[in-house]
Amino acid sequence: MFPIKVAIMGAGLAGLACAIMLEKNGIEPVIFEKRRQVGDRFINGEILMSILNRPIDDCLAHFSQNYGIYLQPVGNIGKAVIFSENNKAELTGQIGFSNIRGRHPHSFENQLARQVKTGIEFNSEACYEELLEEYTHVVMATGDGTYAEKVQNYRPDLTATLKGAIVTGKFDRYTVYAWLNNHLAPKGYGWLIPLSEKEANIVIGYPDYSENKEKDPNVLWERFYEDVCNKMGQYLKVVDRFEVNRYLFGICKYPRIGNTFFTGNCFGAIMPFLGFGQFPALLTGIYAAHDLSGKSKYDEMTGHLRQSYQNSLVVRRALEKLDNRKLDTLVKAMDTEWGNKAFNAKKFDLLKFVSYLLRPATG
Ligand SMILES: Cc1cc2nc3c(=O)[nH]c(=O)nc-3n(C[C@H](O)[C@H](O)[C@H](O)COP(=O)(O)OP(=O)(O)OC[C@H]3O[C@@H](n4cnc5c(N)ncnc54)[C@H](O)[C@@H]3O)c2cc1C
Repeated sequence: MFPIKVAIMGAGLAGLACAIMLEKNGIEPVIFEKRRQVGDRFINGEILMSILNRPIDDCLAHFSQNYGIYLQPVGNIGKAVIFSENNKAELTGQIGFSNIRGRHPHSFENQLARQVKTGIEFNSEACYEELLEEYTHVVMATGDGTYAEKVQNYRPDLTATLKGAIVTGKFDRYTVYAWLNNHLAPKGYGWLIPLSEKEANIVIGYPDYSENKEKDPNVLWERFYEDVCNKMGQYLKVVDRFEVNRYLFGICKYPRIGNTFFTGNCFGAIMPFLGFGQFPALLTGIYAAHDLSGKSKYDEMTGHLRQSYQNSLVVRRALEKLDNRKLDTLVKAMDTEWGNKAFNAKKFDLLKFVSYLLRPATG
């Protein structure tokens, strides 16, 4: 049989997960990474939330048990506190995991890189058209839908501005916080994720709709920062800042075209509702490797992720319609025994159920 030659564009979550799985199946890919080293960008905290990945409950156990991919979190989240303008909800249970991203040695991408045997070609911004000439297969894993858009295989749904900082203070690493407040993040969210007992990441993310374009991100940020300090009851010292402009949310039209696989954010991993994309990014990398190893079909395996994306988009569109008064009502409803039960029900796909109910309202 003609030997396959696989090029992976991007050493992020999807690209590295794909490389690990290919190696396990006896295929040695060539990985191209445009940065100087893995995760060479700002450090931030991210989370994996069980409720968004049903029926899988424990994402990290899923990766180790089924695929032999090992990821260590910063903490398992036992409590999520959600603030609206006037209300607060506390959800407890096995909510998920927090983890680090970026240039930190413990970041998910660095943990994955240590599990890859193949060397990574750094400082090489792969050109898709050139790779097609040299390799039998290309795995697009650039973490950015713009390339998939360029090759006319992408439906962009929105872009967002993300403004964040690393702050020092005192934190409980098992508790995360979210803000649903249009004064702070219009039609978006704010969040605080501890990186340790002494450091946390605080971020606002909101869509770049025309009505938001007039808003000054610095003013929103200062307002949010002040509210975070108030709610946490302490002065938080900013030690690092970052801003991501026009962060693209969308989904590819076809997961695979010819011998090119669209993975991670190029596939449509980033879910529009809360912007979570790590779990689907890792899965798409793994699924692409399975297809390349002749085990299953990428198009079929990614079907459930496309559905989740659509469900997530419906929930986002519905949430965007809520003013602060309605967000207060929503948060109050969450802070009940039923709210906690729905959040913790392991066999219940809450996102699917809610999106089904909201579909008529969002068109
Ligand atoms: C501030 C922020 C907070 C987030 N919070 C969460 C969260 O809490 N939970 C969650 O699940 N998700 C979160 N996400 C989304 C999540 O980070 C992404 O969905 C996920 O990282 C996508 O993985 P990926 O493999 O597609 O891309 P990445 O992991 O970003 O990797 C892409 C890699 O490709 C490289 N590259 C780009 N172009 C080229 C090229 N032409 N040639 C070679 N290499 C290239 C890049 O340098 C990078 O290393 C957040 C995102 C941001 C920005």
